[in-house]
Amino acid sequence: MSEKTPGFDTLQIHAGARPDPATGARQVPIYQSTAFVFRDADHAAALFNLQEVGYIYSRLTNPTVAALQERMATLEGGAGAICCSSGHAAQIMALFPLMGPGLNVVASNRLYGGTVTQFSHTIKRFGWSAKFVDFDDMDAVAAAIDDNTRAVFCESIANPGGYITDLDAIAAISDRAGVPLIVDNTTATPYLCRPIEHGATLVVHSMTKYLTGNGTVTGGVIVDSGKFDWSANDKFPALSQPEPAYHGLKFHETFGPLAFTFNAIAIGLRDLGMTLNAQAAHYTLMGIETLSLRMEKHCSNAVKVAQWLERDERVAYVTYAGLPSSPYYDRVNRICPKGASSLFTFSLKAGYEACVKLIDSVNLFSHVANLGDTRSLIIHSASTTHRQLTEAQQIAAGAAPDVVRLSIGLEDADDLIADLDQALSKACA
Ligand SMILES: *Cc1c(COP(=O)(O)O)cnc(C)c1O
Repeated sequence: MSEKTPGFDTLQIHAGARPDPATGARQVPIYQSTAFVFRDADHAAALFNLQEVGYIYSRLTNPTVAALQERMATLEGGAGAICCSSGHAAQIMALFPLMGPGLNVVASNRLYGGTVTQFSHTIKRFGWSAKFVDFDDMDAVAAAIDDNTRAVFCESIANPGGYITDLDAIAAISDRAGVPLIVDNTTATPYLCRPIEHGATLVVHSMTKYLTGNGTVTGGVIVDSGKFDWSANDKFPALSQPEPAYHGLKFHETFGPLAFTFNAIAIGLRDLGMTLNAQAAHYTLMGIETLSLRMEKHCSNAVKVAQWLERDERVAYVTYAGLPSSPYYDRVNRICPKGASSLFTFSLKAGYEACVKLIDSVNLFSHVANLGDTRSLIIHSASTTHRQLTEAQQIAAGAAPDVVRLSIGLEDADDLIADLDQALSKACA
């Protein structure tokens, strides 16, 4: 046997999964159990003191969920991972150990609409705030970071605009400021982009999308790079200072590169309870087994459909970073060389009404507020997912009123093109 690190296709099937020690079951069992029996009173005490790692109660840890955590940490090249009940839960859980009242996160103005809403309104209830800036303007990003900034947040491939973030440049700015970079890698998946290799501290995902891949599960994950020095200054007391709820334990001193991971489980999941359930973890593990195969087809289908749309007279423009016409095409080679995923938008010359008519005229595409499904999906972002945003925010996010978003699935590209063609004929008649 060679010592070579296994390739992605091998890891997506095997990482985190061993034959079940009790039964030999080859697939990861669904451990549908709330609690786990302690060997004896000393064992229980050691687990509760975080002196020994093991299973106590499924709000904190569960063997099925742990297999998924190990798989995601491996695929992203991180030290540890924490699964959460949704992508949005993962975002709150990622910020929770870092933030506090009066502190802020510097975020890209090109983000998933739900994240813009979460960051613009809901986090204010915790006393946190977000400063949105154009992440192509490096001076603006650097200038937005102040003494109260505790995180920088962006998406590798931004949803929905076909925009790719220059992660290396943003990481360099975050690094200089001593602030962790959090990258939402939902649209790219670790098959197309590994943000930790570009300097990310934490990677978050909505596993609801391409990772599970078939529109069955709501789930999220945080992958911890293990590389950030939480004790370099006094900005991150939850990780560097004594924790009263654990007899004064200091997470960074005790757990080193796994400080964030242990904190997010022992404090975050314990007290916020945004836990992924074992059944959902199992579906997601099965989805990830075919991630590379699916992403290849998602990308090749997306290129075909985007090229066809770009040549169509009824279409004003197509924003897909996988097209040579995209201003972000050069970044594809650097950030996600295997492809630009399958989420993109296009604009109709005939405007808002035609977009609405198009959506009502498709047969094969499903009109849903989801992405990363085996099925091809269509949505008019301005009237749905990005509805809570102002028109200026919609335009900045690539979801202007005359723009339609597609998530290209795994069907035959010719069938998808034929469906769009007939729907465009009706919409633009
Ligand atoms: C869907 C999505 C989220 C939110 O995830 P949920 O699982 O729906 O909570 C966050 N970021 C991006 C990029 C998404 O596409």
